[in-house]
Amino acid sequence: MLDGLGLDQARGFVFDVDGTLAHRGPDGRAHPQPGAVEVLERIRASGRPLAVFTNGSHVTSETMAGGLREDGIPVEDREMLTPVDSAITYIRRRFPDAPALLFAHDVIRARMVAAGIPQAEGEEAEVVFVAHVDEANLKDMERAARAIARGAPLLTGSYARGYAGANGIIFSRGAMVTAGIAKVTGVRPRIVGKPSKAAVEEISTRLGLPTEEIAVIGDDAGMDIALGRMGGSKTVLVRSGISGAIDLDKLPPRHRPDAVIDGVAELLDVLDAR
Ligand SMILES: [Mg+2]
Repeated sequence: MLDGLGLDQARGFVFDVDGTLAHRGPDGRAHPQPGAVEVLERIRASGRPLAVFTNGSHVTSETMAGGLREDGIPVEDREMLTPVDSAITYIRRRFPDAPALLFAHDVIRARMVAAGIPQAEGEEAEVVFVAHVDEANLKDMERAARAIARGAPLLTGSYARGYAGANGIIFSRGAMVTAGIAKVTGVRPRIVGKPSKAAVEEISTRLGLPTEEIAVIGDDAGMDIALGRMGGSKTVLVRSGISGAIDLDKLPPRHRPDAVIDGVAELLDVLDAR
């Protein structure tokens, strides 16, 4: 099904992690999918850039990349992207120097502050960003709601209701916080992870290429394929993950991939080393 897609003409690649390059076990470790390592190596050997975009926002992208390397998936720090990276770029570009109210782990807050985003301490927030959180304080949520009522945007890494755990769905606490603030303010959250314009911009900046010239490969039609379609990229859905049994005809056009494969190993057939 990859014939005629012209994947060999793609100048760069973006991969999802879970369900695409790896499956995660109950211990949280990533187990590489067949062919995943070879696909990444083949692309690098051809001199083309790649990025690995996961929607996790609980740790920095360097920590994420380090964990994948430990699990046998060779991903460089500079190749790793998360919603935190796209949030930093987006906030710095659209709201330079604006104090931000951040719902995130301490390491993520520290990363954002180090990247030049001042943290709001009181009522001065001009931006609200929600990443993965383990707990939330209702007083902070009220502060966020007041900031949004004054005109601050409500940004969120992901607004999916949850993610796949070893024993079924793990409900997203970030989505719960975002939804709570959205409900009382009547403001629609702006996603900055997958799929979003902010993520498309981040990919383009990181790869140094227009997204029309890249291919996006992932297992989630509503997330990875939607991201690729948003940026005009070629899109490949892998059936090794969440959308395995999906009926393509029932997908809305913006979630419909250019090609479908069973697993990333099939990409080896169309990726020559040049
Ligand atoms: Mg996935």
